[in-house]
Amino acid sequence: MKPTAPEYFNIIPPYVPGKPMEELEREYGIKDSIKLASNENPHGPSPKAMEAVKHALTNLHRYPDGAAPELMESIASKMGCQTSQIVLGNGSDEVIDMLAKVYLNAGDEALMTEPSFMMYSISALAQGAKAVKIPLTQDYRHDFDALAKAVTDKTKIIFLNSPQNPSGTVITKEEFEPFLEKVDPSILIVMDEAYIEFNRNSEAVIGLDYLNGDHTVVTLRTFSKLYGLAGLRIGFGVMPEHASQMLNRIRPPFNINIPAQVAALAALSDSEFVEKTLETVHNGLDYLFDALKEMDVVCYPTQTNFFMIDLKRDAKAVYEALLYKGVIIRPLGSYGFDNHIRVTVGLPQENERFVKALKDVMTGS
Ligand SMILES: *Cc1c(COP(=O)(O)O)cnc(C)c1O
Repeated sequence: MKPTAPEYFNIIPPYVPGKPMEELEREYGIKDSIKLASNENPHGPSPKAMEAVKHALTNLHRYPDGAAPELMESIASKMGCQTSQIVLGNGSDEVIDMLAKVYLNAGDEALMTEPSFMMYSISALAQGAKAVKIPLTQDYRHDFDALAKAVTDKTKIIFLNSPQNPSGTVITKEEFEPFLEKVDPSILIVMDEAYIEFNRNSEAVIGLDYLNGDHTVVTLRTFSKLYGLAGLRIGFGVMPEHASQMLNRIRPPFNINIPAQVAALAALSDSEFVEKTLETVHNGLDYLFDALKEMDVVCYPTQTNFFMIDLKRDAKAVYEALLYKGVIIRPLGSYGFDNHIRVTVGLPQENERFVKALKDVMTGS
């Protein structure tokens, strides 16, 4: 007899990551590939963060300070919240997982959109809870009427994502507030804002505005995207203290390693890098939308550092053909969109290479 995992583990879907460049180059014998698949920062990590990591190397034999006081202070002042309302995670992925562990039991329901970030359902299913998925609307927005109707007495968490991955749409205040009124305050609301820094729509809702309200609204932020620290794994949740106290009971005491702590602290004050990144992304989007205009595809407006394209044909085949040209993008079949791809904005020369490759592939040259 082998040890057995709980029965409900068998329905946890595997996470599908963007293809790593090394793997592509090894498998296809290609050099100089570009990856526009995982919404990473095209400029690399924040230079201030890299410098801070160098200085931290001599301390690698030490355990990190799990309380990360300096970083917590810096985040609190940036977010306008108390340090006691912040929970750091090994990526915001880990905060999602801690929320599921604390608030979901077997038989409970977590409500989310379809498609949505895979960690919501993976973490819910691992608790034996049900992932209840409500399709996005025709124009790829959260369907708040349907979400409100799907709430049952088993619903414990509602995962919202603004700007949404993979659609790039934001939730507006006007959509969110009537919904919040309909939801019982016993249900925890997660507002995943992994890309909020790229947003330029003034109507977008900001989760932090509801931090001290009647509902328990948890805002998730990450250092993986704007700050270019995806490889270090650090993100955080901002939530009412009753929630942070519960999460801290199960938070692994050393979950944020020393390089991640110092890098995040330095990156937060690297305004030059932040400005440069935003400029690259916003200019890149202008270029890409303009360059793709003449093609028979649909590019969807976005408030993120990526955008979705309806190719009006099987995206998997286009994805494969682009791989042969050393261009990695994300086909959205695993998100339920067979004709769509998701493309991360790169450096100008990467964007140009993508446009040329896509045109060649689509015209068969
Ligand atoms: C990238 C991303 C995150 C951040 O994940 P980390 O674990 O912080 O790297 C969270 N939510 C969504 C929707 C994302 O796309």
